[in-house]
Amino acid sequence: MRSFFISILVFIGLSVQAQKLKIVEKPIIWDSLRQALSVEYLKDRHGISQKTPAIRPKMVVCHWTAIPTFEKSFLAFNSSTLPNTRKELQNASQLNVSAHYLIDRDGTVYHLMPDTLLARHVIGLNYCAIGIENVGDGSANPLTEEQFRANYLLIKQLKKKYKIKYLIGHHEYTKFKDSDIWKETDPNYQTIKFDPGDEFMNKLRAKFKHLKKKP
Ligand SMILES: [Zn+2]
Repeated sequence: MRSFFISILVFIGLSVQAQKLKIVEKPIIWDSLRQALSVEYLKDRHGISQKTPAIRPKMVVCHWTAIPTFEKSFLAFNSSTLPNTRKELQNASQLNVSAHYLIDRDGTVYHLMPDTLLARHVIGLNYCAIGIENVGDGSANPLTEEQFRANYLLIKQLKKKYKIKYLIGHHEYTKFKDSDIWKETDPNYQTIKFDPGDEFMNKLRAKFKHLKKKP
């Protein structure tokens, strides 16, 4: 009988541990240039004038990087300005793309920048959106079970900290276009996105009944 109770306690202990999320702090460059470009982005793109690029998160947007490794994905976000290869984004702003979190294929969560500063990852919504990038793509490197679990635990944690109302995939962002939540000064600035796809997002949203996918 005693050993039975001990096994139950060990089982509970292991389950609690399995629900815990380890987050590794791995900041991207945040210098005065990135700070200034972020303030400028808020003003020029979202029409919001502020002294700092502070945001009030009310949405989580999930992505895949379309880059096969963590190292290369990190490098893509690290610099303060966009590389010359992203001409379609350069006209809108020189600010480099980034996200608040980057999840490796083994499910390790890396925290790249403070949750309450602007990251450029979703047109029209950056001023209120926390971005989660996942290393992978929709073909050769589909997102893993470990990544799914990490997204779930991370969003659960973010929900406790901020007033999150919406959970969307990057491919769903245009659903907000005709709502008050959408803030983009150029009505023609839009890109077509496929990440991370309906399967991943529907499975994830099934775990968060109160988070909405559209306004
Ligand atoms: Zn994306």
